[in-house]
Amino acid sequence: MFSKGSKLYSIFTGTCPKCHEESMFKNKNPYILSEALDMHETCSNCGTKYKIEPSFFYGSMYVSYAVGIAFAVAAFVISYFVFNAGLNAMFISIVATLVVFMPIILRLSRNIWINFFIHYDKSFAKSKK
Ligand SMILES: [Zn+2]
Repeated sequence: MFSKGSKLYSIFTGTCPKCHEESMFKNKNPYILSEALDMHETCSNCGTKYKIEPSFFYGSMYVSYAVGIAFAVAAFVISYFVFNAGLNAMFISIVATLVVFMPIILRLSRNIWINFFIHYDKSFAKSKK
């Protein structure tokens, strides 16, 4: 399910959605905040242009809403059912989760967004190497 060729592989590793060979992001560590959203223009392996159209990644904001909700629900479930937290503690844990995971949420939503539009193509995998 997470192997090369599935969309989940590209989404969770941040690799090129077409060939799954190269990282789309210049810096692999999302917590270098100044470079968190720095992406390559094109894939160095297959030449796919990531920014399909101007402001393409604005659309990922819709996705980041859904991804943020997923993280918030996870924080709620863990704090409520695992730690038996009260209302204030749950609220704090949800806010803290969203803040701490923000770089990951932003990247995940970009990965999901671009994977809506670009699909894996086996023939591009390591074709130029
Ligand atoms: Zn590629």
